[in-house]
Amino acid sequence: MSLADKATAKALKDMSVLGRFVALYCRDKHADRPKARFTYKGVDDKVWRGIELCDECSKMLTHGTAKRLICPKEPKPYCKDCDIHCYGPGYRERVREVMRYSGRKMIMRGRIDMIYHYYF
Ligand SMILES: [Zn+2]
Repeated sequence: MSLADKATAKALKDMSVLGRFVALYCRDKHADRPKARFTYKGVDDKVWRGIELCDECSKMLTHGTAKRLICPKEPKPYCKDCDIHCYGPGYRERVREVMRYSGRKMIMRGRIDMIYHYYF
């Protein structure tokens, strides 16, 4: 049994939301790069329905997904309030930049439901 098989509904939701933030950022900032549908071994593709990313963003989301799957905290705290800071060097700053950028756009679009999941 892989970690992904044990992912809770909440973890899947977090991973889906993170994917949406990264996809919005990638679409705007990396418009000229080739993109591919994001998948993660062992996780149902439906989690990231319609999410296409460039290589760099795909790596970032893979890292974030892996970290969410192994998060030992239940319930998971906001990452900014957590004492573990599990993201690897460089990733944390990049994910924060993505969340800031996409969070602002989602507020402008009235996607307040997404902001409730604003974690990073
Ligand atoms: Zn990208």
